[in-house]
Amino acid sequence: MQNQHSFFIAQKEYCTDLKGIIEYLQEKIEVGNMCLTCENKKTKDFQSGDAVRHHMIDRGHTFMKTENGFEEYEKFYDFSALFEEKLKEQNNVVPGIEFEKVKVYVNEK
Ligand SMILES: [Zn+2]
Repeated sequence: MQNQHSFFIAQKEYCTDLKGIIEYLQEKIEVGNMCLTCENKKTKDFQSGDAVRHHMIDRGHTFMKTENGFEEYEKFYDFSALFEEKLKEQNNVVPGIEFEKVKVYVNEK
């Protein structure tokens, strides 16, 4: 069965490999059995990707974490345009994190 889920990709306009990051996130759920938002820190360990997905939907944990470990995702991004823009503005303020919803299709057994 194929089910549609949504989760939120951070700073999507700077993402250079959307397919790659979606695959990576799905693998994290399916293989790592890990919630993308809280990384199971607010819950017990999950035994399956299904259990993780239920948790994520129940708790609204459908966002990529953006604090304490965004480096993990950096290879999928190119923020140089952003930094150039910021340099031009001579402004060192870190921009707010923006999320964009993407549809994800997941094969369920
Ligand atoms: Zn969670």
